[in-house]
Amino acid sequence: MSQHAAFRAELTARKAGLLAQHAKIDKHLKNTDREMPQDWSERGTFLENEEVLEALDAHQRLQIEAINAAIERIDAGRFGVCASCDEDIDERRLAAIPWTALCIACAE
Ligand SMILES: [Zn+2]
Repeated sequence: MSQHAAFRAELTARKAGLLAQHAKIDKHLKNTDREMPQDWSERGTFLENEEVLEALDAHQRLQIEAINAAIERIDAGRFGVCASCDEDIDERRLAAIPWTALCIACAE
Protein backbone atom coordinates (compact mmCIF):
# COMPACT_ATOMS: atom_id res chain seq x y z
CA MET A 1 0.00 0.00 0.00
CA SER A 2 1.50 3.32 -0.97
CA GLN A 3 1.60 6.16 1.52
CA HIS A 4 -1.18 7.97 -0.30
CA ALA A 5 -3.34 4.87 -0.34
CA ALA A 6 -2.98 4.74 3.44
CA PHE A 7 -4.05 8.39 3.69
CA ARG A 8 -6.95 7.70 1.37
CA ALA A 9 -8.09 4.79 3.55
CA GLU A 10 -7.82 6.92 6.68
CA LEU A 11 -9.70 9.83 5.12
CA THR A 12 -12.41 7.52 3.81
CA ALA A 13 -12.86 5.95 7.25
CA ARG A 14 -12.96 9.36 8.92
CA LYS A 15 -15.51 10.56 6.42
CA ALA A 16 -17.73 7.53 7.05
CA GLY A 17 -17.66 8.26 10.79
CA LEU A 18 -18.46 11.93 10.23
CA LEU A 19 -21.30 11.12 7.85
CA ALA A 20 -22.86 8.79 10.42
CA GLN A 21 -22.67 11.45 13.16
CA HIS A 22 -23.82 14.10 10.75
CA ALA A 23 -26.88 12.08 9.75
CA LYS A 24 -27.93 11.81 13.39
CA ILE A 25 -27.57 15.53 14.03
CA ASP A 26 -29.28 16.40 10.77
CA LYS A 27 -32.17 14.15 11.64
CA HIS A 28 -32.49 15.83 15.01
CA LEU A 29 -32.30 19.34 13.53
CA LYS A 30 -34.83 18.51 10.82
CA ASN A 31 -37.25 17.01 13.30
CA THR A 32 -40.06 19.56 13.33
CA ASP A 33 -41.69 17.91 16.34
CA ARG A 34 -39.13 19.56 18.56
CA GLU A 35 -40.92 22.01 20.76
CA MET A 36 -39.72 24.93 22.74
CA PRO A 37 -40.19 24.06 26.42
CA GLN A 38 -42.88 26.04 28.22
CA ASP A 39 -40.64 26.62 31.17
CA TRP A 40 -38.39 29.66 30.81
CA SER A 41 -35.48 28.10 32.68
CA GLU A 42 -35.59 25.09 30.37
CA ARG A 43 -35.74 27.26 27.28
CA GLY A 44 -32.21 28.54 27.83
CA THR A 45 -30.81 25.02 27.89
CA PHE A 46 -32.95 23.99 24.95
CA LEU A 47 -31.70 26.89 22.81
CA GLU A 48 -28.12 26.37 23.88
CA ASN A 49 -28.29 22.73 22.84
CA GLU A 50 -29.76 23.73 19.50
CA GLU A 51 -26.95 26.22 18.94
CA VAL A 52 -24.29 23.70 19.84
CA LEU A 53 -25.81 21.17 17.46
CA GLU A 54 -26.09 23.70 14.65
CA ALA A 55 -22.47 24.74 15.09
CA LEU A 56 -21.39 21.10 15.14
CA ASP A 57 -23.49 20.44 12.06
CA ALA A 58 -21.80 23.29 10.16
CA HIS A 59 -18.36 22.21 11.38
CA GLN A 60 -18.92 18.62 10.28
CA ARG A 61 -20.16 19.74 6.89
CA LEU A 62 -16.98 21.77 6.35
CA GLN A 63 -14.82 18.88 7.45
CA ILE A 64 -16.60 16.43 5.16
CA GLU A 65 -16.03 18.87 2.28
CA ALA A 66 -12.35 19.19 3.18
CA ILE A 67 -12.00 15.39 3.29
CA ASN A 68 -13.75 15.02 -0.08
CA ALA A 69 -11.37 17.59 -1.56
CA ALA A 70 -8.36 15.76 -0.07
CA ILE A 71 -9.54 12.44 -1.57
CA GLU A 72 -9.92 14.20 -4.92
CA ARG A 73 -6.37 15.54 -4.62
CA ILE A 74 -5.08 12.02 -3.90
CA ASP A 75 -6.88 10.72 -7.00
CA ALA A 76 -5.53 13.61 -9.07
CA GLY A 77 -1.97 13.03 -7.82
CA ARG A 78 -1.93 16.44 -6.10
CA PHE A 79 -2.00 15.21 -2.53
CA GLY A 80 0.69 16.60 -0.25
CA VAL A 81 1.32 19.57 -2.53
CA CYS A 82 0.27 22.99 -1.26
CA ALA A 83 -2.73 24.35 -3.19
CA SER A 84 -1.39 27.87 -2.81
CA CYS A 85 2.39 27.80 -3.38
CA ASP A 86 2.96 24.33 -4.97
CA GLU A 87 5.53 23.39 -2.31
CA ASP A 88 5.43 19.97 -0.65
CA ILE A 89 3.43 19.96 2.56
CA ASP A 90 5.47 18.78 5.54
CA GLU A 91 4.86 15.09 6.29
CA ARG A 92 4.26 15.76 9.99
CA ARG A 93 1.60 18.29 9.07
CA LEU A 94 -0.07 15.79 6.73
CA ALA A 95 0.04 13.12 9.42
CA ALA A 96 -1.69 15.47 11.85
CA ILE A 97 -4.24 16.98 9.43
CA PRO A 98 -4.38 14.76 6.33
CA TRP A 99 -7.20 16.84 4.78
CA THR A 100 -5.16 20.05 4.72
CA ALA A 101 -4.67 21.69 1.31
CA LEU A 102 -2.09 24.21 2.47
CA CYS A 103 1.48 24.07 3.72
CA ILE A 104 2.15 25.56 7.13
CA ALA A 105 3.49 28.83 5.70
CA CYS A 106 0.36 29.41 3.58
CA ALA A 107 -2.02 28.30 6.34
CA GLU A 108 -0.69 30.89 8.78
ZN1 LIG B 1 2.06 26.85 0.59
